[in-house]
Amino acid sequence: MKLQLKNSSVFFTILIFLCSFFISFCSSSQDFDFFYFVQEWPASYCDTKRSCCYPKTGKPAQDFTIHGLWPNRYDGSWPQYCDGQSHFHKYQIWDLIPKLEKNWPSLNCPSSDGVKFWAHEWERHGTCSLLNENNYFQAALDLKEKANLLQVLKDARIEPNGDFYSLESIKEAIRKGLGYTSFVQCNVDIWQNQQLYQVYLCVDKFAKEFIDCPILPRGRSCGLEIEFPPFFSPFVDSI
Ligand code: AMP
Repeated sequence: MKLQLKNSSVFFTILIFLCSFFISFCSSSQDFDFFYFVQEWPASYCDTKRSCCYPKTGKPAQDFTIHGLWPNRYDGSWPQYCDGQSHFHKYQIWDLIPKLEKNWPSLNCPSSDGVKFWAHEWERHGTCSLLNENNYFQAALDLKEKANLLQVLKDARIEPNGDFYSLESIKEAIRKGLGYTSFVQCNVDIWQNQQLYQVYLCVDKFAKEFIDCPILPRGRSCGLEIEFPPFFSPFVDSI
């Protein structure tokens, strides 16, 4: 009887050990549940202490640009750098380059053609997306076409004119225009004003359809009233 009890407690200890090993293996693996599709307002990237540089192709159009398409999990964690062997190759996306230059420019200094930024996004996030390189960038471009943030904000009379708008009115305009809730992220300009910096939308696992966000990114969003700054050139370091 005693031996039987001892055996079953050993069995349960082993079972618990195996279960916890399995759970921790699964949560540190490369799976994901949905994507964040993140667009940024270039003026807000540039008018901070860090400043920016126009891409080699010139001043970006007055529009939101893509920051990234990031696999994420329901618990708020995310996989990254999923395939050390899968390096970015420009030739894989040669057909998308004009569209990427327009919609996914790099604003880092010194001026560049965007390749370094795209390579970073592919290697950190794209390699976890279950898409090949061309499909990954194409998916992001398609999502950008579907989610015309500047238009839905303009429809709600929210314009990049340096005025302050309530955070709620911005989120409501996006919800009304696109049908989904968003996460709005702010940064701070050189005068310490909180301003509209990035908008996160959630996308299904196939990178096709917008969905209601299962979980919003961690961290502070914005103040109650935020600036929507115009695109002034003085903040640009060099071209
Ligand atoms: P990630 O690793 O995908 O979260 O991207 C973060 C990096 O992207 C940071 O180093 C940012 O400075 C950079 N970043 C964000 N927007 C841009 C942009 N428009 N051009 C170049 N780098 C950017």
